[in-house]
Amino acid sequence: MLEEKLARLSLTALQPRNMAWHASQIVKQVDPGAETAAARMAHEGRKVTLDHGVYAQSRLSADLPSDVASAAYARVDAMARKLRLGDSSRNLDQLRADVFADLLLGNDPGVQVPQSAAMVYLHMPIDTALSMSETGASIDGIGPVPAAYAREIMTNPKSIWRKILCDPTTGNPVDLGRSSYRPNSTIRKVVEVRDRMCVVPWCRRPARHCDFDHQKQWAKDGGSTSTNNAAPRCRKHHRLKNAPGWIHHYDPIHGTSSTTTPLGVTYTDKRETVLPPRSPETGNATDPEPPPF
Ligand SMILES: [Zn+2]
Repeated sequence: MLEEKLARLSLTALQPRNMAWHASQIVKQVDPGAETAAARMAHEGRKVTLDHGVYAQSRLSADLPSDVASAAYARVDAMARKLRLGDSSRNLDQLRADVFADLLLGNDPGVQVPQSAAMVYLHMPIDTALSMSETGASIDGIGPVPAAYAREIMTNPKSIWRKILCDPTTGNPVDLGRSSYRPNSTIRKVVEVRDRMCVVPWCRRPARHCDFDHQKQWAKDGGSTSTNNAAPRCRKHHRLKNAPGWIHHYDPIHGTSSTTTPLGVTYTDKRETVLPPRSPETGNATDPEPPPF
């Protein structure tokens, strides 16, 4: 099956450097869950290691999430480049190493860079951001990442994000949003727009007057702090969530919710989609070939 899909790619995709990337894209489409599980396991394995070498040199390295490692490297690099402007006695590698050590030891590296120096770009289709799809997320310069992981980055309170509108037919950017956002308020609005009302089946309380209900932590419990683990619940039903005898289920991906009362009666509901889903005839929905980005 993988061979068939690879055979359909363009010739440049079959060059050794591109092939692994395309193959991993296809594997992700076939089994995004496995990719997410593997990423969670890798995340659990983050660590710092120290290896002593010869000639009084040692190697200090850290296994970190790709976005964190990239942001840290970008900041060290930006500081080293700035220092180099007034320091020709050290090359860039040496400056980066010195800055790295200074930062870790709490010494002043002698230079300041803006927060944007540690910027990492995360590309994510809106349906993936909304947990309606599990494909298409990637980090600039790193490559595809599991959707759950991308949503975790997106909703991290330390992240700042900016929307860039892309033409869905070409995948190219057409408009750059002017504002940058902290995710908390943005994600809250996204969930409000998606769910529109309290997720308890018989409740019609508008989402904008509801509490933003978080569930599990992504890394700790295998849940997510993002849109796919969030739902509007009015204050009354938020309080009822953990009350004895009540059972609540909400699946933000399919928009289905059910509530079982202490008397054992179950009520169910299904959210209307914001837009009618595209039918397979009008798009490329039947052909899951990865977009050429
Ligand atoms: Zn309610």
